[in-house]
Amino acid sequence: TAKRAAQLLSTQNIRSLFDPVEAFLFDCDGVIWKGDKLIDGVSETLDWLRSKGKKLVFVTNNSLKSRIQYAKKFHSLGISVAEDEIFSSSFAAAMYLKVNNFPQEKKVYVIGGEGILEELQIAGFTGLGGPEDGEKRVELKPNSLFEHDKSVGAVVVGIDPCINYYKLQYGTLCIRENPGCLFIATNRDAVGHMTDLQEWPGAGSMVAAMCGSTEREPIVVGKPSTFMMDFLLEKFHINTSKMCMVGDRLDTDILFGQNAGCKTLLVLSGVTTQTTLQDPSNNVQPDYYTSQVSDLLRLLGP
Ligand code: PLP
Ligand code: CA
Repeated sequence: TAKRAAQLLSTQNIRSLFDPVEAFLFDCDGVIWKGDKLIDGVSETLDWLRSKGKKLVFVTNNSLKSRIQYAKKFHSLGISVAEDEIFSSSFAAAMYLKVNNFPQEKKVYVIGGEGILEELQIAGFTGLGGPEDGEKRVELKPNSLFEHDKSVGAVVVGIDPCINYYKLQYGTLCIRENPGCLFIATNRDAVGHMTDLQEWPGAGSMVAAMCGSTEREPIVVGKPSTFMMDFLLEKFHINTSKMCMVGDRLDTDILFGQNAGCKTLLVLSGVTTQTTLQDPSNNVQPDYYTSQVSDLLRLLGP
């Protein structure tokens, strides 16, 4: 069934989106910043939204940082955001283990960044691997056995700029030799803005490597899975029909919003072009689209 095509946000239709919405959920990369560069007009727009009584929440699939580290990043860009307004896929991975009563005596092997290890630690779990395994090399010689910790009960995979054969073997053994071992992916984004000018392979490539060797499919905790939404809703108690998800990616952000029953707004300041949005092969249509976040202020502001 064909979906209704997205409407361009304008002075005529913006009130019907804006007025009923109590909370705006913002994707980060491509919406708030690109890499470490703030997108024009974002800071003023967020201040203005707060002054209008709108709740703001930030949801990112990039698992390199923890919520604490993201709060610092926001502050360094001149935006005041509290840690508990941030929902990162690194946090979601730790919360998935928590709500599923993952035993504290079991360990978690991490293919990914510091952010995942920090979130695991805050949640009371023992993480192994991560950046410190980035330098490790394997020895492929007869009669030598690759050793791994048998108490690992979960492998978490996210973006890992130092992925190597050691980590792949470690994670693969944990999963293949223990059918009960959980295989968790922070997200499966194809690419991400590791730097402002270029896209780089995203966690999807690391996850795909582990799918190949384990012959298993992961549990995905980041967007578009609704897992993170459950935490959001516990904290904010707002009906999802009064939330608007603002994002730049159709298969993560817009689907995430739609899966939960939120209004959706696509911004063209990130990875999606108007051509992609309007391509007949694209079957994800947001409610509205506009060029960038500051259009909210431009169309409605003083
Ligand atoms: N994963 C990686 C590795 C990234 O670099 C990015 C964006 O920079 C993302 C995911 C997507 O992040 P977001 O959900 O904030 O757009
Ligand atoms: Ca994005």
